[in-house]
Amino acid sequence: MAIVQAGETTGGVRRLRVANPATKEHIGDISVNTLEIVRETVARSRTAQEAWGAKTVDERAIVIDRALKLLIARQEDFISVIMRETGRSHFETIMMEIMPACDALSYFSKQARRTLRDRKVGLHLLRNKRLTITYQPLGVVGVITPWNGPFILSINPAIQALLAGNGVVIKPSEVTPFSGKLVAELFRDAGLPSGLLAVLEGDGETGVALIESGVDKISFTGSVKTGRKVGEACGRNLVPCTLELGGKDAMIVCDDADVVRAANGAVFGALMNAGQFCCSIERIYVAENIADEFIRRVVAKVKTLKQATSGEFDLGPMIWPPQLDVIERHIEDAKKHGATVLVGGKRNEQVGGLYYEPTVITNVTHDMAIMREETFGPVVAIVRVQSDDEAIRCANDSTYGLTATVWSRSDERAEAIAKRLVVGSISVNDVALTYGALEAPFGGRRSSGVGQIHGENSLRNFCYPTPILFDRFRTKEEVVWYPYTNDKAKLLQRIIRWIWGTPLGKLMS
Ligand code: NAD
Repeated sequence: MAIVQAGETTGGVRRLRVANPATKEHIGDISVNTLEIVRETVARSRTAQEAWGAKTVDERAIVIDRALKLLIARQEDFISVIMRETGRSHFETIMMEIMPACDALSYFSKQARRTLRDRKVGLHLLRNKRLTITYQPLGVVGVITPWNGPFILSINPAIQALLAGNGVVIKPSEVTPFSGKLVAELFRDAGLPSGLLAVLEGDGETGVALIESGVDKISFTGSVKTGRKVGEACGRNLVPCTLELGGKDAMIVCDDADVVRAANGAVFGALMNAGQFCCSIERIYVAENIADEFIRRVVAKVKTLKQATSGEFDLGPMIWPPQLDVIERHIEDAKKHGATVLVGGKRNEQVGGLYYEPTVITNVTHDMAIMREETFGPVVAIVRVQSDDEAIRCANDSTYGLTATVWSRSDERAEAIAKRLVVGSISVNDVALTYGALEAPFGGRRSSGVGQIHGENSLRNFCYPTPILFDRFRTKEEVVWYPYTNDKAKLLQRIIRWIWGTPLGKLMS
């Protein structure tokens, strides 16, 4: 059964029926907004943005701070909407959605006051000029998001775009539309001007329309396949975009690693959100001398994990049914080519919804689909390696490059390995944290994405850094202005010889 099914079409507007992936119960219907509606929504946001963009950063931050207070107060309501759409546990919903949203609201509100201030920049050459860099809003930012982090991945770029003075139109996944709508509800109640931020229901058609609607930037999070289409459409429309895409993240466990911490970390890193996390550990390369103990501990821990639809449990369902087919294809292909399933390896029919048992698989080889394509499910695939070099070679042999983790008792050794990995960010002796460390620029290399979010330039990436250059001395004219004369040419050549040809000139320029 699909979680999203076609409903009736009325007045030329398609409707979609949405179900809960844990229970398969119908939870609501949405409309697929067409280009016309999308354009009207963007136009409304653009009108509201004029006044919003003219406000000071402090004035914008007041609304963001109010949103934080509201989210803390109403978190249980928000959690129940997100749980209904994702089937996740109460704990995981708090950890993955509410906590990072609170942190983003608080952190970026503070960061905005620091990084969006006008900057006076000293000039190395043109000492008779003065430069100010001002951070102007782009206009309206389109945010297109996936189903695997439906609230946080919608609210996080929205917070940043709003603080930078933009209007925002969000197109959440059709699989989890109601979590996306919470963002509009929160900011409306926090006092955001009407129309400035909108959440549009719809599927890919609405996403396409948003890119075509005249927005000034697209922040896209989703699969590589869609990301390519989004990148192409943004290129055609000359709209700047960031693409946060899929991964096939590697974990390297060195022969001196703390095996207990590494095994516990591997289980959490691979199975959190039932493996539906862009930075899930999908490939583990463990040193041969500790592999037996590592695998034994991973299997023992996985056997303790609970799947359920209510109460205390660890793993929720697959949120999007086609994901189950991908997992099954990867496991069956691996088994056919000689892999061994140590635990799991099949759907969990006892729970009822779209559940796949947490799975540990070994004897996998590097050419199997399970080691090359994004699985996005609760699967831990383990390979034994003979050296750090072999682990690095295998980890880098991928079309993806999102994140990686390295486990060693020596920070120096781990850092040396980290510096050789072609990925967006690396955690040492830890998992899944680089997205949450908002000071760290986050993004993917290779087909895992284009551009970065977070870090020092986070909010500036939602602005146009505009230089304004002033003349300081207001002389009647400049040396290089007309008329051109041979004397002036000789003067310029003397300047060239002195500035770039003498030690003192180089020092002063
Ligand atoms: P998806 O690419 O199928 O859909 C993402 C969004 O794009 C949805 O809102 C969808 O309606 C919309 N869309 C579909 N076709 C479109 C088109 N042609 N133009 C514009 N928009 C279109 O992704 P998904 O299945 O929802 O999400 C899972 C994927 O997201 C995984 O690959 C995961 O790794 C990735 N992801 C990456 C990050 C990251 O930060 N790098 C974070 C979360 C998820």
